[in-house]
Amino acid sequence: MNEVRPPARRSPRRRVASARSHSHERCEGHGEHLDRVNLTPGRRAILDMLCAAGKPLGAYEMIDLLVDADGRRPAPISVYRALDYLVEHGLVHRLASRNAFMACGSHHHGADPVVFLICDACGRVREFASPSVRADLDAISAEAGFRRRSQMLELLGVCADCANAPHNHST
Ligand SMILES: [Zn+2]
Ligand SMILES: [Zn+2]
Repeated sequence: MNEVRPPARRSPRRRVASARSHSHERCEGHGEHLDRVNLTPGRRAILDMLCAAGKPLGAYEMIDLLVDADGRRPAPISVYRALDYLVEHGLVHRLASRNAFMACGSHHHGADPVVFLICDACGRVREFASPSVRADLDAISAEAGFRRRSQMLELLGVCADCANAPHNHST
């Protein structure tokens, strides 16, 4: 899938520039959403960065990547506010098990439950939305009289690439 380079090798400015250049090919699914959101330059920079990363990033990793040419880093509160906005509008998901954020990689409807398959070995995450999962969650919630707020299921494991790799193996 996406090649993710280790951070802190290239200059911050170049890194952000390359994040922008990749955003369209990797986040095409956002096209219809983008008409309805107010993407300020700060929100756009974070969304582009997550699209380019192709895997979840923690808020402080993002702050490090947003350091400008003079070494100034954005205030954490501004990054968290931008993330809140992107999460609320369905462009970004928060992964509780990783305390990290990832760009939505699917065309799912905002109300659909999403299943995240999180690889312990390489850190990549794939997401799936499934009507049958929704039906099951609805049934379970109804039976328990539970008003479900969260629509996220995070499954930990090993992705196909890592499971098949001769080295990087964890069984
Ligand atoms: Zn999504
Ligand atoms: Zn993997």
